[in-house]
Amino acid sequence: MRAQIAAANWKMNLTLQQGEALLDDLSKATDNLDNHRVVIFAVPSPYLAMAQEKIKGKTNVFIAAQNVYNKKSGAFTGEISVEMLASLGIQWVVLGHSERREYFNETNALLAEKVNLVLEFNQQPIFCCGEPLEIREKGTQNDYVATQLQESLCHLSAEQLQKVVIAYEPIWAIGTGKTATSEQAQEMHAFIRAELAKKYGNEVADNITILYGGSVKAANAKEIFGMPDVDGGLVGGASLVGSEFATIISSLK
Ligand code: 13P
Repeated sequence: MRAQIAAANWKMNLTLQQGEALLDDLSKATDNLDNHRVVIFAVPSPYLAMAQEKIKGKTNVFIAAQNVYNKKSGAFTGEISVEMLASLGIQWVVLGHSERREYFNETNALLAEKVNLVLEFNQQPIFCCGEPLEIREKGTQNDYVATQLQESLCHLSAEQLQKVVIAYEPIWAIGTGKTATSEQAQEMHAFIRAELAKKYGNEVADNITILYGGSVKAANAKEIFGMPDVDGGLVGGASLVGSEFATIISSLK
């Protein structure tokens, strides 16, 4: 069975102390995860070292950065490099979140560079894709997402692609309380898998973990994660509340 992942995206929330308390609160929920179940916390960069320390010794629990720069090092004040992440022992990086695309002008081409760098340093990208509302209303969401995959991922070899986790996050469902229906999520996830299968074959595509993101909460996680091509979630708001995220973890297949 491919990995089923509950990934928390704290975004720009919580103080260091609140973050520590939240990880402590979730300590029980992240003990004894089955082999195919994985929990990832994408925390703000000043908390990476603290979070890494907190999960020490746990199996199948990882800390992720929420972004990384597309250059290895140098005069780029304020940016964070893959090498820095590697030196902290970070193994996962969220790339291409719609907030990065929208507020920081990240393009598919720039994300391809970031994907390459992350893989070069033996880290794994959680690559986010997903359409805005106007595209969904026009009904062209499949083409839109296919282009995102094509331009940022499809240059990879099959071996490299297998390190990538994809997160489908329809922008109209992020932080809005408006979840895609589980059928809408399933439909897009199946489409993404089929697109990957065209280039990489069924065996590779079947092994790619595809997460759903957008207003996932304790109350709807089980239904959404229950869909055959949905392999867990990338969770914003509900990941900031211990009891909510614990239920989300326990909703994984
Ligand atoms: P919400 O769960 O707050 O809708 O955010 C989803 C998201 O953007 C996760 O990356």
